[in-house]
Amino acid sequence: MKTWLKTLALTTALLPVSLLQAATIIHAGQAFTSTSEKLTGPISIVVDGNTITRVEKGHITVGEGDTLVDLSDSVVLPGLMDMHVHLSFQQGGTSSYLKRFTQNEADYALMASHYAEKTLMAGFTTVRNLGDSYNETVALRNAINRGIATGPRIYTAAKSIATTGGHADPTNGMAKRISPHVGPEQGVINGVDEARQAIRQRYKDGADTIKITATGGVLSVAKSGQNPQFMDDELTAIVETARDYGMKVAVHAHGKEGMIRAIKAGVASIEHGTYMDKEVMKLMKKHGTYYVPTILAGNFVAEKAKIDGYFPDIVRPKAAAIGPLIQATFGKAYKAGVNIAFGTDSGVSAHGDNAQEFALMVEAGMPPAEAILSATVNTAKLLDVEETLGTLEAGKLADIIAVKGNPLTDISVLEHVQFVMKDGKIYKQ
Ligand SMILES: [Zn+2]
Repeated sequence: MKTWLKTLALTTALLPVSLLQAATIIHAGQAFTSTSEKLTGPISIVVDGNTITRVEKGHITVGEGDTLVDLSDSVVLPGLMDMHVHLSFQQGGTSSYLKRFTQNEADYALMASHYAEKTLMAGFTTVRNLGDSYNETVALRNAINRGIATGPRIYTAAKSIATTGGHADPTNGMAKRISPHVGPEQGVINGVDEARQAIRQRYKDGADTIKITATGGVLSVAKSGQNPQFMDDELTAIVETARDYGMKVAVHAHGKEGMIRAIKAGVASIEHGTYMDKEVMKLMKKHGTYYVPTILAGNFVAEKAKIDGYFPDIVRPKAAAIGPLIQATFGKAYKAGVNIAFGTDSGVSAHGDNAQEFALMVEAGMPPAEAILSATVNTAKLLDVEETLGTLEAGKLADIIAVKGNPLTDISVLEHVQFVMKDGKIYKQ
């Protein structure tokens, strides 16, 4: 054999070893790939590095050096995505309101790290964090991305933006003599200039997205849970400035007027949406605005409002009135054809219980398959990551979970996730 031919033969012989790294091959009993509304039969998913490279019918042979993950008794799905969490906080009654006086930044950061791990283990591989206190979820996101903390892929709004006395003004209810001045840097704005400043500050702080509180809220120490809290010019300034920095705007809203103003200004999503009516739904469809329902949070606060002393007196009537309405609103919005993206407001309810939202969605009239799509495909679209996340397909990032049982006949099986892979790495098996 000529030398050059010998070299070629040798090189080719070496190719499979040098080019093909050992892959992880998942044998799944069935899959909900989020590319259709049905389960597949038995399939194999080949994961190379952090990417799904092949999805094949049946159980393919495992090559030498490859790792087999046997999920032949399970149903695999894309990693779930929750569009509304607060990782650095978990509501625990009246005492929760003292935390802002007793906790430092580091306390919040460590809590966030703890709850992030719980969230990932529950099968949620991606979350949008809509409001923290000291940018601790920016640090957490970076730590997770660097592999030094364990948690879901985080898209964070850092500190929410409110108006003075509005939901997410961190000094609500404080005695004046101990109340610090808060401005755009702390996410409290009044007027167009401060609105722009607050967005640019979030960009500087490393936020991925913007959260504003367009109406009153249930848990804040303030009277109204639904009054509009931003003027049109402030909302326009927020949306336009955010757009300049490549950020979308998520909007906490219970009352109708606040929702209408925000939707017209061009925000990406309405969170909670309690008093949404037909007019609001029509407007959301026209503007392509997503609805993130958070039924779980509504039910949770409605339950707790029955307990004497659980909430401060000013919060209790709001929790009792607003909480139970969200599920019915969701049912109507779904029937009206509003885009739904899954979100729970976890941190109000316990972190790791996120999947309980699914049963509430199904109970309100959404078919299980659509509920799963709302937490995979729709959420990926809302985050603008549908090229890399949301389905089990070749070329997507390997965020894969598995459950025992058929989620299309019993959605509650998603509350017991047995297997979690994020970015090709197995976290739970
Ligand atoms: Zn929230």
